[in-house]
Amino acid sequence: MCPPADVMNVFDQSRTMKDLEHPPSPQIPAPDLPAWSHFSSLLFSGSKALTTVEMGLLTCLSVAAIFLPPSVTNVKGSMTLMQMSIFLWVSAITRRLYNTYCETVFFKFPQYRIQPDREHALASSGKDLCGREKKQLELLEWHDLLTMLSQFVLEVSLYFTLPGYFPAAQPHYGSWWERLIKLLLNHYVMSFAMYWMHRALHVVPFLWEHIHSIHHYARHPLSRNTYQDHWLDNMGNAIVGHVTAQILVPLDFQLFWFSHIFRIFESLEKHAGTSCYFNIAHSIQRWLPFAQMPHHHDWHHEGHKACNFTFTSIGGVWDCVFGTRKAGRGTQLQCKRSSTREDAVEAGHPGSPKMRKKSYMDQPIIVCIPVLAVVGAALCKLYANAGIVGA
Ligand SMILES: [Zn+2]
Ligand SMILES: [Zn+2]
Repeated sequence: MCPPADVMNVFDQSRTMKDLEHPPSPQIPAPDLPAWSHFSSLLFSGSKALTTVEMGLLTCLSVAAIFLPPSVTNVKGSMTLMQMSIFLWVSAITRRLYNTYCETVFFKFPQYRIQPDREHALASSGKDLCGREKKQLELLEWHDLLTMLSQFVLEVSLYFTLPGYFPAAQPHYGSWWERLIKLLLNHYVMSFAMYWMHRALHVVPFLWEHIHSIHHYARHPLSRNTYQDHWLDNMGNAIVGHVTAQILVPLDFQLFWFSHIFRIFESLEKHAGTSCYFNIAHSIQRWLPFAQMPHHHDWHHEGHKACNFTFTSIGGVWDCVFGTRKAGRGTQLQCKRSSTREDAVEAGHPGSPKMRKKSYMDQPIIVCIPVLAVVGAALCKLYANAGIVGA
């Protein structure tokens, strides 16, 4: 049976603002609606205007790649500008399609939801499914635009100022096991830097108040929340995470593609509101020690600032090492395969605190040291390489 039109609109990301002005009836208990009623999130930020701007930028880049001379579009050691432009197109399309997939799973398979339905139930107070108010959504749309523009400038600048950052295709690649180790190392370096930056964003009052709290407007995350941050938050993640990892442990052309698409999957899944085998990236890496599933990041949102658990962005090892692991609802899930070994251990110790006490590592200066160390190491390597080239 088709749901009434006004019910469908509420779940349509492109119409969120409008619907908040006319909140639906509070009797609607939970979002058990057909998956097809949520496909509108194919638009960037649910906005036709922002989608047009994004497509315009990518089209300009593709046109430049066609018409500029080879001396500009073939940077030594890098993929061609056209390949880089295809990479950005594919990344944008993947984000949109995989977001739709994640939301489809959320609405189609309610048994795999992490939080009880009542947490996502529509409230008469004018909040959206994720617990955000109209004013907060308006601010997020503005930051979505700034994120898109700043990330585009960053990517193009990296292409022209850091030869090899977007690695060139090779006729032959090394052995698969060497490349696998390199990929893991790259991801662990990236997640280490992002772990400490995320922790700093929570425990340094200025950073929390002015930057990261915007991402945490969403108390009940869905995949559409993934990149909805302050634009500086997204910029920090890109530079401290992806850029430094690629400088310190460079990936080849194929691994670079794989890593970035994998990261898109992983980021969207951890906000998906479900924890199950449909989470492809999390299921693939679940065999790794201390791996995370989406319910860990879900708890991070549900617990809000006060909880201060679970800062790791990919894999879960750093949360275990630095004492911020929390199973959240991990032991109450329908899909038992998504509960991890460490969740089971935590379940064996009932009464573990919902909130974490601050430790010396949460001092504003101390928490920033690892971030500065990783960025410093990347800069040193760049400096050393420049010296070799210049010599
Ligand atoms: Zn956070
Ligand atoms: Zn998040």
